[in-house]
Amino acid sequence: MDLMALMAKLKLEHLPGSLDALCEQAAKRDLDYRRFLAEALATEWAGRHQKGLESRLKQARLPWIKTLEQFDFSFQPAIDRKVIRELAGLAFVERAENLILLGPPGVGKTHLAIALGVKAAEAGHRVLFLTLEELMTRLKRAQQENRLERQLQQLVYPKVLIIDEIGYLPLNRQEASLFFRLVARRYERASMILTSNKGFADWGEVFSDQVIATAILDRLLHHATTLNIKGESFRLKEKRKAGLVTEPLNPPEPKGGK
Ligand code: ADP
Ligand code: MG
Repeated sequence: MDLMALMAKLKLEHLPGSLDALCEQAAKRDLDYRRFLAEALATEWAGRHQKGLESRLKQARLPWIKTLEQFDFSFQPAIDRKVIRELAGLAFVERAENLILLGPPGVGKTHLAIALGVKAAEAGHRVLFLTLEELMTRLKRAQQENRLERQLQQLVYPKVLIIDEIGYLPLNRQEASLFFRLVARRYERASMILTSNKGFADWGEVFSDQVIATAILDRLLHHATTLNIKGESFRLKEKRKAGLVTEPLNPPEPKGGK
């Protein structure tokens, strides 16, 4: 059988396109057969991994891509780098534990949630990002259309479900009980990463019902890491920095000097 046909039979999608270049390189570098085979298979593997990652990132519906490398830890000393490094190892995902990021606007909650979502997608996990508002729209529509059960089941499927912006939009009791059903469904099965501008003490208000809020927190926090980010807004810092450049009240440093 000819080489192209063999690769097609073996369903090698990425190697055929790179083969000429690989052969040329191998000849130049005088590679032995084993090394050449390893490089050829590595090319196929890298292509597959990249394709899988791209499709997982697309399915994740992240609003934008942010990475941990882009996060300036020195700006937010309230965040323990070691804890983030530990989380980035994704053992919490393997153990179906939760992560809750609390703090005022602009401290990097969504950034960190996305960055960990990217890590999880890279590691081969299914990820889904929804704001609480988007989640509620899905659940309520499903309930109206008599397919809540199926929707809940679909929302258990991702290994990491990120629910962003809990607290901005108060839920009524019916909505809170839908949220509770989701949390109960995922409990000890798969991880959630939640972000909120409200401390737990205010969740009763967010969910319009202290009893439901307690039941939600009880399950969420049973196996969870909570990061309370008590810092300054990165957005405001950027504005201020920009302000320093244009603000007429801050004249430029005198030139020359000393
Ligand atoms: P939050 O969700 O807490 O309101 P975001 O995560 O949306 O805040 O952060 C606001 C913006 O500032 C984003 O563009 C984010 O990437 C950036 N940002 C926040 N904190 C940091 C940080 N420590 N280092 C780098 N960028 C940051
Ligand atoms: Mg946010």
